[in-house]
Amino acid sequence: MSLIPPTDDQGLGEGYHSPQLHVAVRLNTNEAPLPPPQAWVDELQAEVGRIQFNRYPDRDAAELRAALAAFHGVDPANVFCANGSNEVLQTLLLTYGGPGRTAAVFEPTYALHGHIARITRTAVVEGERNADFTLDVVDVKRVLSEHRPELTFLCSPNNPTGRAEPADVVTQVLDLAPGLLVVDEAYGQFAAWSALPLVTGDRPLAVVRTFSKTWSMAAARLGYLVGPSQLVAELEKRVLPYHLDAVKQAAGRLALSYRAEMEARVAMLVEERGRLAAALRDLPVETWPSDANFILFRPLHVEGHEVWRGLLERSVLIRNCASWPRLAGCLRVTVGTKEENSAFLAALAEVLA
Ligand code: PMP
Repeated sequence: MSLIPPTDDQGLGEGYHSPQLHVAVRLNTNEAPLPPPQAWVDELQAEVGRIQFNRYPDRDAAELRAALAAFHGVDPANVFCANGSNEVLQTLLLTYGGPGRTAAVFEPTYALHGHIARITRTAVVEGERNADFTLDVVDVKRVLSEHRPELTFLCSPNNPTGRAEPADVVTQVLDLAPGLLVVDEAYGQFAAWSALPLVTGDRPLAVVRTFSKTWSMAAARLGYLVGPSQLVAELEKRVLPYHLDAVKQAAGRLALSYRAEMEARVAMLVEERGRLAAALRDLPVETWPSDANFILFRPLHVEGHEVWRGLLERSVLIRNCASWPRLAGCLRVTVGTKEENSAFLAALAEVLA
């Protein structure tokens, strides 16, 4: 038997990685720089003590879904949870993608949309964004009418470029999309606008969210979508039984009662984002506006790889996008704590000098 998988011809390359190195200032994976509230940790610990570990967890994650539904003002039947929003995306592609089906993405965007599509043997068509990385609705129209994709992915705010899609653009794409529109809002709470209110009982729209960023819970691996109940029921048929462990279900459910603390952390990061953006404008770099917890920039006179290495030598790790398609020379910095951001800015000024 050959151990070369059939998906090897799909251009998966080396897979998807974000190298983690030991540094003092880690600003490369858009995590929250602060931990969740201690009260949440204490509550979760007590809850873990009550779990019947010899039993399988609630297969329907009923309490977690009910809590998320109440949080968003929808019905639990409109909520699907999974191990990180990546597993939500994977389940969408297992359900609606596959051989003979097509997914549309608009580059540059979150690489996992295309990557998971290829793993599920879904054909990927790539539309192009404008030079300033905003969506080009004319190209969106062309891609959607030429390829009639079963799935269309938007990412708002878009990773790694930073901007949220304006409401009128998302509604236009929703009207144009011949199949399901997936709006990935992993960074949704950092933006002023969300597509969540557009979700209705029968519209082919799913909005994906995660606990990894704003909730400071990347280690818990929990994400979800809000969408039509029929879509949720189809996803539930395809996901592995008991995929959501009991600890995760409790972690997510309890977190939702710390909304004010989450919003305070988001507000701090939004303020720091403003400070970082202003400081970057005074340096010899090109930057793009961000509605997320990261900023994309391109050094003007020094090569991107060189700047990335120079920062690493100063124990600051950011994301090196310099050789990514359409992002030549670009780097992406996650907004951290005030101290981390100051350390990054000082190191960057040195490297660029
Ligand atoms: N969507 C986007 C746009 C992301 O940037 C990320 C994290 N890098 C994810 C989804 C996946 O997040 P998680 O699986 O941790 O929920």
